[in-house]
Amino acid sequence: MARERTFSILKPDATERNLTGAINAMIEQAGLRIVAQKRVRITKEQAERFYAVHKERPFFGELVAFMISGPVVVQVLEGENAISKYREVMGATDPAKAAANTIRKVHARSIGENSVHGSDAPDTAEREIAQFFSENEIVG
Ligand code: ATP
Ligand code: MG
Repeated sequence: MARERTFSILKPDATERNLTGAINAMIEQAGLRIVAQKRVRITKEQAERFYAVHKERPFFGELVAFMISGPVVVQVLEGENAISKYREVMGATDPAKAAANTIRKVHARSIGENSVHGSDAPDTAEREIAQFFSENEIVG
C-alpha cells in the first residue's frame, strides 16, 4: 500500500480540555505525519455539508451543534495506510467500545463528544481534505 492521506478533526471536546498536544502525540507515535493543521471555528453550513451523509439520522442536529460549539483543529495526516491506521488509533465511535490505548478510549466523553474524526475511505478523505485545505497548505 502506498503512502496515503487522511483527514482528521480534533473536535470541540478535545480543544476545550487542552488535549490537542496529547492527541497529536498519539497520532505521531502511530507513525502518522501531520502535514497540515489549522485551528478554526467551523460554520453551521460547513458542519452540515461535512456530515451530510448523516442528515437523516436522529443525532444530526446534535452533531452539527456540537461541531460548532467551539474551536476544532483540522488536519491532514500522511503515512502508510493512513486512513485505516488512523481509524485504528482513534478507536470505535463509542468510547465504551473502543480498544485500550486508542484516542477515544483514553479521551472521549461519549459517543457524540468523541474527540476526533477520521476519514473512512479514500474518496471521502480526498473530498474532506478539499473542503478545508488547498493543496499549497499541505506540506509533506
Ligand atoms: P467520524 O465520522 O466522526 O470519524 P465515525 O466514523 O466513527 O466518526 P459515524 O458513524 O461516521 O462515526 O458518525 C459520525 C459522528 O456522529 C460520530 O463521530 C459521533 O460524533 C456522532 N454520532 C454517531 N453516532 C451517534 C449517536 N448514536 N449519538 C450521538 N452522536 C453520534
Ligand atoms: Mg464517519
